[in-house]
Amino acid sequence: MENSIAEAIGKLKRELPSNVKLVAVSKFHPAEAVMEAYSAGQRVFGESRPQELAAKAAVLPEDISWHFIGHLQTNKLKLVLPVAAMVESVDSLHLLEAIDRWGRENGKVIQVLLEFHIASEDTKQGFSREEILDIVSKAGNYGNVCISGLMGMATFTDDESVIRKDFAKLVALRDEIRSGQEKYPGLPDDFGILSFGMTHDYRIAVEMGADMVRIGTLIFGERNY
Ligand SMILES: *Cc1c(COP(=O)(O)O)cnc(C)c1O
Repeated sequence: MENSIAEAIGKLKRELPSNVKLVAVSKFHPAEAVMEAYSAGQRVFGESRPQELAAKAAVLPEDISWHFIGHLQTNKLKLVLPVAAMVESVDSLHLLEAIDRWGRENGKVIQVLLEFHIASEDTKQGFSREEILDIVSKAGNYGNVCISGLMGMATFTDDESVIRKDFAKLVALRDEIRSGQEKYPGLPDDFGILSFGMTHDYRIAVEMGADMVRIGTLIFGERNY
């Protein structure tokens, strides 16, 4: 289908409220596909593999805002952090500390989201509520990361009530942290970005107050792993 990427971007832009940021998830799709979306006005892209992100960032326009959304190993930070505007998928304290250290050594403050494990599957990554509350209470220890909010992935199911329940956990934890912000002096004042919703559940996510949705398949088609 010719121009189908541009069409999908256009449709999403019309559909999404203006305060919801669209992260176009381009993982496993070539730089040409990213360029098509870019030409349609899209500037924020999500990638989940360090090598692939670095390779694309090297050949694509500088004003692209790259979000890293996959599992990140600390030995791959040097591929990701020089180019990423945000790491949405911080899923361990070890990783958070390594990002902070890299930031200190390289004179940068890295925007991150903490990944909250909201799904019922064990396969998905992420922190528990208690772990997140512990980290945000120590946010002041990490001078070179800016903990901007939370990210999550719902259970993979067609049962909308399960998806809503999962997403509601994200909203509740964000609200809990915000309402107790005096306990978390290291957090930025505008803490609370919520990144949730993908191709099959982004409409529910928008309805429930997502600030960012991460959409791949609907824009770029099926991925060939
Ligand atoms: C791949 C991926 C997406 C996009 O998924 P689609 O179903 O293709 O929209 C969103 N978030 C994360 C973390 C991903 O890994």
